[in-house]
Amino acid sequence: MTMADPTMTSPASPTSATAAPTSATAAPTAPASTNPPAQTSPAAHAAAVGTSAPTLRVAVVGSGPAGIYTAEALVKQVSALAGGPGIEVDVLDRLPTPYGLVRYGVAPDHTSIKSIAGYLRRVLEYPRVRFLGGLRLGTDVTREALLSCYDAVVYATGAMRDRRLGVPGEDLPGSVAATDFVNWYCAHPDIDPAMFTLDAQAVAVIGVGNVAVDVARILAKTAAELRGTDVPEPVLAALEASKIREVHMIGRRGPAQAKFTTKELRELGELEGADIAVDPIEADLDAFDPTGESSRLAASDRRVRGNMAVIRDWAGRLPQGRPRRLSVRFWLRPVEIMGTERVTGLRLERTRLDESGRVVGTGEYEVLQVQMVLRSVGYQSVPLPGVPFDERSATVPNAEGRVLGADEKPRPGEYVAGWLKRGPTGVIGTNKSDAAQTVRSLLADVEAGSRPAGSATARLLDVLAARGIRPVSYTDWLGIDQRELELGAELGRGERVKLCGWEALNAACGAGPAADA
Ligand code: NAP
Repeated sequence: MTMADPTMTSPASPTSATAAPTSATAAPTAPASTNPPAQTSPAAHAAAVGTSAPTLRVAVVGSGPAGIYTAEALVKQVSALAGGPGIEVDVLDRLPTPYGLVRYGVAPDHTSIKSIAGYLRRVLEYPRVRFLGGLRLGTDVTREALLSCYDAVVYATGAMRDRRLGVPGEDLPGSVAATDFVNWYCAHPDIDPAMFTLDAQAVAVIGVGNVAVDVARILAKTAAELRGTDVPEPVLAALEASKIREVHMIGRRGPAQAKFTTKELRELGELEGADIAVDPIEADLDAFDPTGESSRLAASDRRVRGNMAVIRDWAGRLPQGRPRRLSVRFWLRPVEIMGTERVTGLRLERTRLDESGRVVGTGEYEVLQVQMVLRSVGYQSVPLPGVPFDERSATVPNAEGRVLGADEKPRPGEYVAGWLKRGPTGVIGTNKSDAAQTVRSLLADVEAGSRPAGSATARLLDVLAARGIRPVSYTDWLGIDQRELELGAELGRGERVKLCGWEALNAACGAGPAADA
């Protein structure tokens, strides 16, 4: 038997009497609820399983798509094993709200993608799965404590930091990471709802991936177009008061090399209040590419072909006199974000591909008069305390989901899934097959006896209770969920309006009708 980490039994921290702190920047915590957790106890789990076989107990850290798909794969793959162990999965999150990127990354107007939350919800409601929110790895619960309480731990904390651009002026006021802007319009409680006032006339969005497309679209849409979505009230008010007239989306390579997908791209040309513009020379596949790579890509890759059809259509469009203009630019790389007190411009250098296919500067410069720069050049994972991390790839070193130590050998009982495992690529569904692979590795190791089912005997709730910490339960979360649905109806805005800030989340946490049941 492994003993609980001694740090877990230290006196309760001042903030830990109820739910644990959920953020470095937001001190308030979710309130205690006198209601029992929505999901079943370990004993009830065993009864549900209906077996006396040992139970495999797994903690999944992160309740975004990767974490919840991992929980689903665990239940399904274990159920498919004849004579295999029982299974209990605890899905932990530092926030009191589940669904990670689906809640705090998917754009509010992408309702069909957001509906994935309904699928994830059903997994959290499996009798063998339990949500434990408000627990931050490293402070509220350590890696060692998890390994003492579970036979296996799967890290699935995603990628929540922006990549840096590395140009002068990047930290000027008005130069903003897309991660912050996305978190703002998705009502992430760590972001001040008053963070953005949108008083710039012109904005540059750097990058031509799907996040850049999301950000450019939200900036260019009218508030009326977003009223029926779940954007919180202060965000809707800021969008309503927006002075933005011009949005430039800028790629350092050509349209054939852009990362966005056609369906998402096409939406930019269908906005009520914005004309779309593309410079025909920048849409010409050969103009800045002597290698012929762009034309080859357009011929061989369906996505690129689809993108080019959209872009060529836009290059031929005339302005319709809409109040805003969205220009999609290519072959320009940022060299300086200009300004002294705050952003006043963006200096760009024209690029082209050289004979070896590398992107190079041409020495020709252009200055855009913009008052805001949104850097959307990709996400990065952050290291987890005590967990190996490769700074170069910003992922946890792994072999098919098995966490590798400094000796490049698997660390028994530790696994990784999702963006933390493979980097921020693919669509949400990509995490399903990715999670299934990690779970196959985990179960093969259990079968091989590296950490058999039932080897961890400490119980996390006991360990936490000894420190005065009570996690946010699934029922507590349903209180938030319920309040958001009510708010949507009260405001006549749509199915849901997100609560904004820690105070509102804490007030609603555990206060829903489901919690009273
Ligand atoms: P991404 O797809 O990797 O795109 C990053 C963009 O930033 C690329 O255009 C890249 O150009 C550019 N970039 C990188 N470094 C740069 C630099 N130093 N200067 C200028 N440009 C630079 O990343 P993402 O947009 O953050 O998306 C992350 C993942 O989420 C993707 O898999 C995406 O498809 C997914 N996502 C999907 C949806 C959706 O399906 N609706 C919505 C949002 C996000 P280079 O190619 O030249 O490096």
